[in-house]
Amino acid sequence: MKPFTTCVHAGAHVEPTTGAIMQPIFATSTYVQEEPAKHKGFDYSRADNPTRQAYEEALAAMEGARHGLSFASGLAAVQAVVQLLEPGARILVCDDVYGGTGRLFRRLFAKYNLDFQFVDMADPAAVKAAATPATKLVWVETPTNPMMKVIDIRAMAQVAKQTGALLVVDNTFASPIFQTPLALGADIVLHSTTKYIGGHSDLIGGALMMSRQDLFEQLKFVQFAAGSVPSPFDAYLMHRSLKTLGVRMMQHHKNGMAVAEFLASHKRVKRVMFPGLKSHPQHAIAAEQMRGFSGMVSFDLDGTYDDVVKFLKKLKVFALAESLGGVESLVNHPEKMTHASVPEEMRKKLGIGPALIRLSCGIEDTDDLVADLKQAL
Ligand SMILES: *Cc1c(COP(=O)(O)O)cnc(C)c1O
Repeated sequence: MKPFTTCVHAGAHVEPTTGAIMQPIFATSTYVQEEPAKHKGFDYSRADNPTRQAYEEALAAMEGARHGLSFASGLAAVQAVVQLLEPGARILVCDDVYGGTGRLFRRLFAKYNLDFQFVDMADPAAVKAAATPATKLVWVETPTNPMMKVIDIRAMAQVAKQTGALLVVDNTFASPIFQTPLALGADIVLHSTTKYIGGHSDLIGGALMMSRQDLFEQLKFVQFAAGSVPSPFDAYLMHRSLKTLGVRMMQHHKNGMAVAEFLASHKRVKRVMFPGLKSHPQHAIAAEQMRGFSGMVSFDLDGTYDDVVKFLKKLKVFALAESLGGVESLVNHPEKMTHASVPEEMRKKLGIGPALIRLSCGIEDTDDLVADLKQAL
């Protein structure tokens, strides 16, 4: 089936006792057993819950994966992957990885004798050079946040294969509508479902998708044993949101394109970072591995931090808030907000400065978004 059909139908089962077309919310922690250990496949909701199971089936289908697992947050999903590792493992991480992922690696997991190396993955030679026999994971996020670098997933799959490491791709920014990393050689795909998949800025969630049976079993064990599962209510909401992911992404893409083109032509804008622009340094790779470019646009204002604050205050449609991927447009100042926990020297190296602004273009009318930016500029 094609993606929009998959969005609507994956994991949808008619409820047998009533014929309800929608998956009920099974608000239960436990299940009555006939005899000890004789039950209908459910014994405790940390292990399995029917509402969550239906949602996980849909998640897997979206990424063309055999298995999907959902978590209480995107970072809980990140944590589950790291919990596959033994002490001493080396992990190669893209240098402008999501701020929270970097913080989890640097401040929590580094003390368990895990060796995180932050590498510029737009340069495959640099990744090859950093790979050693101890390398167990290659951690890719593409497009990256907030600099919108595009990483060649196939090239990273090759490096990972040569090294015997697993390739993990955080696919949050592209969504499964625009990019399916498993088909490009990734072993595990990760989402913060808080963003495009949830899509309505009303929940926190994460997901992992994989086709390898051994990885599924190991990660399912982590999910069960460590326990970062979403509630049946959140699983229901995320499954409901998945149904409209396809149509939402088309409008995010349309708005992202129009906003990036408008900004690129404006004299108060120094540079625009959006993989859909021909001027983007990795546009060719983006055009090859993505089917659309989402609604995330970063740019440098030609001005001081005070000018940036004035601009932010003038915006009427874009709300100043962290997060992204919701139906409403948001604006964020990475240096002071989402990326404040990134070490200062790393911020400098990446180009996250006082004039950098990140937009999450929602699904409003394109003209209203462009007009809002225009009046504020
Ligand atoms: C938000 C985000 C995360 C973390 O997800 P939470 O749901 O906030 O825990 C991870 N990766 C990316 C790319 C994100 O944008």
